[in-house]
Amino acid sequence: MKAVTLAAVDEVAVRDVPEPRIDQPTDAVIRLRAGAICGSDLHVYHGQMGAMEKDYPIGHEYVGVVEEVGPLVRGFRPGMRVGGSFFSACGECDACRRRQFTQCQEIQLFGFGARFGGLAGSQAERVRIPHADHTLIALPDEISDEQGLFLGDALTTAYFGVRRADIEPGMTVAVVGCGPVGQLAVECAQVFGAARVIALDLVPQRLAQAEEIGAMPVLADGDAAKRVRALTGGRGADAVVEAVGSEATLNLSLRLAAGFATVSAIGVFPQPSVPILIGRAFDRDLTVRAGMANIQAEAAATRELVRAGRLHPERLVTHRMPLEDAPQAYALFARREAGKVILNV
Ligand SMILES: [Zn+2]
Ligand SMILES: [Zn+2]
Repeated sequence: MKAVTLAAVDEVAVRDVPEPRIDQPTDAVIRLRAGAICGSDLHVYHGQMGAMEKDYPIGHEYVGVVEEVGPLVRGFRPGMRVGGSFFSACGECDACRRRQFTQCQEIQLFGFGARFGGLAGSQAERVRIPHADHTLIALPDEISDEQGLFLGDALTTAYFGVRRADIEPGMTVAVVGCGPVGQLAVECAQVFGAARVIALDLVPQRLAQAEEIGAMPVLADGDAAKRVRALTGGRGADAVVEAVGSEATLNLSLRLAAGFATVSAIGVFPQPSVPILIGRAFDRDLTVRAGMANIQAEAAATRELVRAGRLHPERLVTHRMPLEDAPQAYALFARREAGKVILNV
């Protein structure tokens, strides 16, 4: 079968790789209908996750049809249309029983290489899904493939970050970073009752896009914190969602925050350590949270919000390309010239 693999730093290739098979009785194999390229795939693309084996498929945002299930899979059968989490969790360990799926002892991420469990990625014609009952998300007819692609990561990550920002109705919420996850965080903050959402980015086009869905755009340059204070009567934002994953944006988030605000960071930091303005957090009594989205526990909510027409992730799709064009698609996405890029299989 064909799959997208990392050929070199900043270069992917579409190669013939071995077909996935049912390996454990709780596995499923799905036939892909489409995949999407995520900001975190760029860490793989830029070589920040280390070298990958020659025929190791990358990617982790997928929608497809169940082709085969192992004998212990209960909730899914061949022919069902599904999305799925970007990681698999066993569903049975102590952490999973507490519904803290990201802390599963056997967690494996799709498409990030050996450091994250070595599970083959989903930018491919087929993918093996471990612990299918916990990993897959059934898609009702009212949810399109393009909407379904967002449930297993981008949208649910935004929702998770916004939920952990302690938003109360009427608050002013700042979203730092208006890439796809940031745009979705703007929408989620509105669902959580934000009176105003201030959206910050350096790219004017992204700010315009956030403005279209009702956010107040603010250029994230050196004066950004000053501008946010001016918009909030000197207070700052009551809650901040950081959707980039860099030292600059994390510390900007701390500088934007009003006293007693929560800063919720969902951007993926490629490096394990960055300096943080802890003095600012202390002086302002801030709560700072960071975390990988607990998809298995949150996706039921985002699925219902999409189904009910409250969230519209599909409007972020700017490019639809065949899987074979993955090299061009990655190059385009890496130049930040695209919103969400979908690879049709
Ligand atoms: Zn993703
Ligand atoms: Zn577990």
